[in-house]
Amino acid sequence: MDSKSDVLINEPSLVDPFGRAVNYLRLSVTDRCNLRCTYCMAEDMTFLPRQQILSLEELRDVATAFVDLGVKKIRLTGGEPLIRRDIIKLVSAIASLPSLDEVTMTTNGMLLSKMSQPLKDAGLGRINISIDSLKTDRFKDLTRVGDLDLWHNGIKAAKKAAFDKIKLNTVILAGFNDDEVLDLARYAVDNDMDISFIEEMPLGAISSHERSKTQVTSEQVREQLEREFSLIDSVETTGGPSRYMQVVGSTSKIGFISPMSNNFCSSCNRVRMTAEGRFLLCLGNEHSMDLRQVMRSHPGDSELLRAKIVEALKNKPERHHFDANRTDIVRFMNMTGG
Ligand code: SAM
Ligand code: SF4
Repeated sequence: MDSKSDVLINEPSLVDPFGRAVNYLRLSVTDRCNLRCTYCMAEDMTFLPRQQILSLEELRDVATAFVDLGVKKIRLTGGEPLIRRDIIKLVSAIASLPSLDEVTMTTNGMLLSKMSQPLKDAGLGRINISIDSLKTDRFKDLTRVGDLDLWHNGIKAAKKAAFDKIKLNTVILAGFNDDEVLDLARYAVDNDMDISFIEEMPLGAISSHERSKTQVTSEQVREQLEREFSLIDSVETTGGPSRYMQVVGSTSKIGFISPMSNNFCSSCNRVRMTAEGRFLLCLGNEHSMDLRQVMRSHPGDSELLRAKIVEALKNKPERHHFDANRTDIVRFMNMTGG
């Protein structure tokens, strides 16, 4: 190793121009999915051709570069990460990176009945499982194709595999599932899981509903929850737009992810890689760098890859400016990596 790489590796340099240290990468492994959630995707989606998606080796190289630069946590996401071939191999490769604290995943749970134990054995620590309704017909409507029984089988297997923590993720939409806030929270508490309620973001043009009419703020969700639960502030923070509260008398925490109503960008500690290798500096902006091009034109040049990541970070915007009345960002969430 030459002296320049030594400097890069020993002195993590992922600090953006606003002084925010980046230590968290969300890595999308595919834009494809086995569901079609109405708020995430249009009904008729075109997915990327396979050769445009990062290979397993490229994903591993990118993860290694970020970890060498000081990233401590990597979340695998998509699209649906569990439909990616060789995902277990990737989890295992990333989990074995020496200075990484944890590798986690966000999944819709459809394939967890078979994959929970292999994921746990490969080194996956915590897992986030999305669920927007516990009613069979509504689950089908919101996901367009989903089967709630499969989801329950996945949860059973995830509990049996004993991940360090299971957290549910729920996007609340007025008129679609805002009457299930208490049921979903109760389910999480009864099963010793955490749950995060997420505000819908205007990412990608959809036709199933008008996003301006389905907005529910975290504050409105919290008001509903406090009718039944006592909540106290939790010290836990992941950086970025989330806040956690402990449910008194239980092991569960409730998270509020409020990108629309509460701007927490000043503490943002994360960046994203899209499935086609675009290093995305902010969910709500298009500032990015094509790292696939870097890797494919200079195969094996890890020093250049790290240098490009550091260079791109100079363009991390100070904040996003989401407006539910406008779709400034045409990129859908499955492209972005949620
Ligand atoms: N397919 C996996 C899943 O659903 O958990 C991982 C990818 S998905 C894009 C990650 C998270 O983003 C999910 O919890 C999903 O509900 C959320 N999400 C998708 N579109 C969103 C949107 N427009 N606004 C807010 N959250 C969204
Ligand atoms: Fe698929 Fe996740 Fe998007 Fe639903 S939210 S369509 S499960 S990527």
